[in-house]
Amino acid sequence: MSNRIDEHRISLRDNAAHFARDQLSTDITTSDRAGIFHRDGWQKCAEFGLISMAIPENLGGAGAPLSDLIAVMEGLGYGCEDQGLLFSLNAHLWTVAMPLAIHGTPEQRLRFLPSLMNGSLIGANGSTENEAGSDVFSMRTQAVRDGDSYILNGSKTYITNAPIADLFVIYATIDPTLGPLGVTAFLVEAINPGMELSAPLEKMGLRTAQMGQITLKDCRVPADAILGREGRGIKVFESAMEHERGCLLATTLGSMRHTLEACITHARTRHQFGQAIGKNQAISHRIADMKVNLDAARELVYRVGRLKDAGKDAMMEAACAKLFVSETYTKFSLDALRIYGAQGYLADSPTERGLRNSIASVIYSGTSDIQRNIIASELGL
Ligand SMILES: Cc1cc2nc3c(=O)[nH]c(=O)nc-3n(C[C@H](O)[C@H](O)[C@H](O)COP(=O)(O)OP(=O)(O)OC[C@H]3O[C@@H](n4cnc5c(N)ncnc54)[C@H](O)[C@@H]3O)c2cc1C
Repeated sequence: MSNRIDEHRISLRDNAAHFARDQLSTDITTSDRAGIFHRDGWQKCAEFGLISMAIPENLGGAGAPLSDLIAVMEGLGYGCEDQGLLFSLNAHLWTVAMPLAIHGTPEQRLRFLPSLMNGSLIGANGSTENEAGSDVFSMRTQAVRDGDSYILNGSKTYITNAPIADLFVIYATIDPTLGPLGVTAFLVEAINPGMELSAPLEKMGLRTAQMGQITLKDCRVPADAILGREGRGIKVFESAMEHERGCLLATTLGSMRHTLEACITHARTRHQFGQAIGKNQAISHRIADMKVNLDAARELVYRVGRLKDAGKDAMMEAACAKLFVSETYTKFSLDALRIYGAQGYLADSPTERGLRNSIASVIYSGTSDIQRNIIASELGL
């Protein structure tokens, strides 16, 4: 039985890799330098069924197990060089589409889910503020009730997809003195006149993913724009983070496999001192360690999928996956660059771009320190 499941997931993964190579190839050097977001690639991924895949059938999705989606993500990461595009899709999926499917009212789902699934709407999640990063629930953005609406004032920063998004999940507090118990999630459309979006922020890696700031000035939303319940935004946030931390790095598993294969080829074909560099234990052991770490990382991500598919809580396992995969990914990317030597250090080489792309993983969705705090707290410390 379990072999059949493995074969099924391998076939999903390989099919997605084939789709990515065939449909998502782009001039990544130019796109990365200029920070170009590929809307056509986004649309193709939506049509491929990526966003609707794990949304329940009664909400118009395919109702596939999360583990199947993880396998597809792994395949996309292997076949697609545009890691920024995959990062944008991940943000949209785990922090907007999925929370809407889980916490949305029937009216909210009907209104937004079909367009979020078919790729015509882009979603973004606004929780971080200048003074509320890791300490996210100290946010200052405030929502004040006014008749049958709320008025939002404040600002958000480092928001993935913000410059191009149509729909935002904005976290605001109804009373800062309540701490986490005041935080409420609101669905806000980009066309709202009270919402201003900045130009894209320049960043080190994942340059094809657009990141920006949001300013909310007397941004009026109807009371039925609350996602979940008033004062229960923490529930929406935590379930989004559980999914995102556990699954977002599935694409990097594929990317790491691709890098590993390239390193093996390079170690076999690059000769120094009259022999292939891979004949040196310093290189072969580094590659052996990369293989072991990749296999361990994969297990941690699929464990989250299995737990969620069984209807279980995976808060600690998601933090373990996020911590281990992101730390592995950054070290792995540096190791790859070292194996390639100066060739790998050149601007626009896959290893140079790979290293730049990897570094954000130890920051977004909660830094590594915050993942350790979560694990320690789940262990009762
Ligand atoms: C590529 C990228 C995409 C992002 N996308 C989004 C998005 O779509 N939406 C969104 O809302 N946000 C987004 N963010 C923001 C992200 O969530 C924050 O950057 C992250 O939570 C850390 O906050 P900070 O950068 O303000 O760092 P800070 O909180 O200032 O932390 C600085 C350092 O202090 C450490 N630190 C802080 N508190 C503790 C503690 N209690 N224990 C131990 N160490 C601690 C941190 O680990 C870190 O090393 C994104 C960030 C990046 C890099």
